Amino acid sequence: MQGDRISQHESVRKLYERLKKDGMTNIWDRYEAQGMGGNPDQRCGFCQGGNRCDLCSNGPCRGDVAKDKRGVCGITADGMAMRMMLLRNVMGSSTYHYHTEQTVKTLRATALGKTPFTIKEPAKLRAFAGRLGLDVSGKDQDIALRLADFALQDFNRPYWEPSRLVELLAPKERQELWKKLGIFPGGIYHEMMQCTSSCLTNVDGYYASLATKAMRMGIATAYQSQIVNEFCQDILFGLPRPHKMRVDLGVLDPDYVNVLPNGHEPFLGFAMVQLARKKEWQDKAKKVGAKGLRIIANIETGQEMIQRWEMDDVFFGFTGNWIMQEALLASGAVDIFVADMNCSMPIDPMYAKKYHFRLVPVSELVVFEGVADRLNYEPEKAEKQAAQLLQMAVDNFKERHATVEPVRGLPMREAVVGFSTESILDALGGKLDPLLGAIADGTIRGVVGLISCTSLRDSGQDVHSIRIAKELIKRDILILSMGCGNGAMQVGGLCSPEAKELAGPGLKKLCGALGIPPVLSYGTCTDTGRIADLLGAISAALNVPVPDLPVAAAAPEYMEQKATIDAIIGLALGLYTYVNPVPTVTAAPNLVKLLTEDVKGLTGGQMSVEKDAVKAAEGILAHIEGKRKKLGLK
Ligand code: SF4
Ligand code: SF4
Repeated sequence: MQGDRISQHESVRKLYERLKKDGMTNIWDRYEAQGMGGNPDQRCGFCQGGNRCDLCSNGPCRGDVAKDKRGVCGITADGMAMRMMLLRNVMGSSTYHYHTEQTVKTLRATALGKTPFTIKEPAKLRAFAGRLGLDVSGKDQDIALRLADFALQDFNRPYWEPSRLVELLAPKERQELWKKLGIFPGGIYHEMMQCTSSCLTNVDGYYASLATKAMRMGIATAYQSQIVNEFCQDILFGLPRPHKMRVDLGVLDPDYVNVLPNGHEPFLGFAMVQLARKKEWQDKAKKVGAKGLRIIANIETGQEMIQRWEMDDVFFGFTGNWIMQEALLASGAVDIFVADMNCSMPIDPMYAKKYHFRLVPVSELVVFEGVADRLNYEPEKAEKQAAQLLQMAVDNFKERHATVEPVRGLPMREAVVGFSTESILDALGGKLDPLLGAIADGTIRGVVGLISCTSLRDSGQDVHSIRIAKELIKRDILILSMGCGNGAMQVGGLCSPEAKELAGPGLKKLCGALGIPPVLSYGTCTDTGRIADLLGAISAALNVPVPDLPVAAAAPEYMEQKATIDAIIGLALGLYTYVNPVPTVTAAPNLVKLLTEDVKGLTGGQMSVEKDAVKAAEGILAHIEGKRKKLGLK
């Protein structure tokens, strides 16, 4: 593989050469071995079209809508494709929610004084608890406990009782519609049970009904799981506020002890930064011959961390998103890879052996074949666990440094990170008016929430995401970026103020006036809930329903199951939702029609699929211009 087929980023391309030289299996070569996609496509056409099923012993079955060829049980190809999509959605929701449970557990333990963390944002705690109608009198700790109890009770609510969190947080207009459509959810656990049980053979074989169930679960995921998670993490670790951050693989200096928290849950990452900033730990690193000890942020755990905490010489920088994982592990600069709930690859043990680093799962979910090390995160033991992990890294340094030839001089740049609803309001002087004014007078045409992953499906890592983002900002569309796609924007230079030169004249003017880049780094894929909340606030401020706002969602390189439920959330909110690569539903024509056309008449949402970046951006712009016209904006 070469150039654009590997990655947008020079650092990753350079390390790919090392992987080849070292004869290491790697994601690019494994992708190639599976068939490259495109034309001719070597992948199975039935798997790509979604018209296959192997759920029971009568299968595997194949379906064909045109010939009315059905599975042995009688399910159609539309049913097969949506059922598999719903199962992916369940995986996404449950993984989001696993993280949320850990966050609420951490908040509770912190309120009881049992963790190394404190309540960093009492104002946010009180504001959020107040929105939920909770008693906000007394100590912060008491309010935090009330908040944790309230959330846990709502998560466990039966599906026939409307979720209080959704009732209290979602826009009223959406709530009424969701009730009318029968997609107003109960507690998320019951919603996941309903969806999973519906997928059993001979239970729900109707694609439209399965899609409806996905939306219900999506709404529960956004308002129960994602918002509670991010807001509680804000309360514990601080609100994202704009600041500079070093990004790209040049943040790895092999002469330091390098500790890499990886995944999605930032708890031990933050605990390690707190310890590593102490002289005692820097001295320990120096004693083994290192220049010091650094915590290097990675993937989504890293994204959660860099949005909230400022960089220094200890919390040094951010590498990038998940596809660069093997590249960074082959840099020869890693001492420990601390794997929490998400995004650590099954191949990592082979890399740990070759490049001499410790690979330690810190979540009971994460298991690597052949790896005995383990330290399951417990909030009450966070400080002790963080110290154990740092010690493992220090102990690893000498031999790693002596035996593994490092790759030096990799590129590094600075990105501005840390935009949140609150920090955007701060930057605008406390009111959304300057931004809304810029939209109303046409300085910018609209806003896109780019909530994406990174995938090799159609192009190299981040290549399509960067293309789409460039096409959008060129058309005066401001981007809020989240997820691994946010890493793409940061490393790709679009979250740097200089990127305003790539924007259209209106957006460039706005960026200059506010001192912001054209792509605002807004967090992780879990921040889908946060942006849903922001849309609710804008909708209320303008008295305009969410589907009528000049906004859209884009997932130019969606990858895994969490991303699929985010797209469903976009549809339930009534958003134009651009997704790429083409989902595996193309042999389900009625389902495709439902997602791309009919859902518009239900929620106002619409899925758009387009491989070409220019055409995709034109589609988003046409949607935004249509909404502007409807609002009477020029
Ligand atoms: S559930 Fe139906 S379509 Fe799936 S394998 Fe069984 S018989 Fe075939
Ligand atoms: S869902 Fe996508 S953005 Fe979120 S962690 Fe997974 S790969 Fe990254």
